[in-house]
Amino acid sequence: MPVELKGNILVTGANRGLGLELVKQLAETTGQEAHIYACSREPEGSRTEALRQLTTRHPGKITIIKLDVADEESISAAVQAVQDQIGDAGLNILINNAGIRKPALSGALSATKKNDMMEVYETNVVGPFTIAKVGLFSAEVGNDKTACSSAIINISTAISSIEKCPETFSAAQMYPYRISKAALNMLTRCQAEDFKTHNIVVTAIHPGWVQTEMGGENAPLTTVDSVLGMLSVISSLSNKDRGMLLDWQGNTIPW
Ligand code: NDP
Repeated sequence: MPVELKGNILVTGANRGLGLELVKQLAETTGQEAHIYACSREPEGSRTEALRQLTTRHPGKITIIKLDVADEESISAAVQAVQDQIGDAGLNILINNAGIRKPALSGALSATKKNDMMEVYETNVVGPFTIAKVGLFSAEVGNDKTACSSAIINISTAISSIEKCPETFSAAQMYPYRISKAALNMLTRCQAEDFKTHNIVVTAIHPGWVQTEMGGENAPLTTVDSVLGMLSVISSLSNKDRGMLLDWQGNTIPW
């Protein structure tokens, strides 16, 4: 069964960049039966202003949830807040979008400290691992064979590809970042196996090189085009896409 953009959808790192655009397009294009849980580390802070405005423009469609993916207690509190609202219905789609890249510039070997490695791993890998583990999906998901599939989407990157490393390394060394995303790919592959029986499709998606704070102003893609592409890919996912790394246009990237 294909994945459908409906039901309860949770997006992490939704206050700016790709996460904000994901919430915007989901709010604009999904029907009454969809509700979006848009997560931000600081729902009341100035960096969440644009998300708060978006929520006001779509009354009843978006709930802002406080979530720091690197903090286990914050994850527990966020899960409780979402579960209080959705009850037994469970999530339909989880988009693990929040991510960091450290150190800020090249991420070359000499410029990278142990702490950068640990911090990036904690946010980009342990965060998605913990969120998927807490069981936000309905226990009924695997039982109802007529239902559309649920999905976990892990936002990865083309530079996580081990096979492509000789081509991409000189342009973007980024040790902590590319290593963390390669680990996220393995997490995707493991979860794809683990959640098969629950009818949950787990796939990693590369959004392209996109104009955000992380992507920088020289990036060729706008958030609008990247998200249009990713949502089209997500809504056409089926069993054959389990445990894959796809780009925003649906092309397969080799591990
Ligand atoms: P941005 O840096 O623009 O935004 C990152 C988002 O993640 C922000 O909302 C930020 O929140 C949030 N975030 C960071 N750390 C945490 C945390 N511990 N807990 C919760 N939220 C957190 O990045 P993009 O929008 O460009 O990137 C989104 C995803 O796409 C990332 O996973 C990134 O790796 C991936 N990607 C991006 C590419 C690009 O070219 N832009 C290319 C390939 C992949 P806050 O405001 O609080 O910091």
